[in-house]
Amino acid sequence: MTQCEICGTEIKGEAQYIIIGSSKLFVCKSCARYGTIVVDKKTKPKSRVKSESRLYEQMDHEIEEGMEEGYGRRIKEAREKAGLKQAELAKRINEKQSLLRKIENEEIIPGKEVMRKINRVLNL
Ligand SMILES: [Zn+2]
Repeated sequence: MTQCEICGTEIKGEAQYIIIGSSKLFVCKSCARYGTIVVDKKTKPKSRVKSESRLYEQMDHEIEEGMEEGYGRRIKEAREKAGLKQAELAKRINEKQSLLRKIENEEIIPGKEVMRKINRVLNL
């Protein structure tokens, strides 16, 4: 049997690989939302082993803050999925495109208000 590496329940049906930060996890469908779903199997993330407690700690933090490693990529992927250009999303959240670009490049960490707007527009 295959267990979800996040909640520990037996995975029924389709299991998914997700990436949280630098960890690659095999999870059930309901836990897939905690990370970025791996689609391209060719991209092999660097395996940095984290202890389980460390991971849970990180997850709690992420859920609380709504921020995680790879947030820029997550936003970019969600934006592209929504068929929006950087400028279009920037306009919708009433921010400058340069700011959005920096967020997607993870040069800056968006404030809660900006993040909330992005999440709302992209349904993250
Ligand atoms: Zn799970």
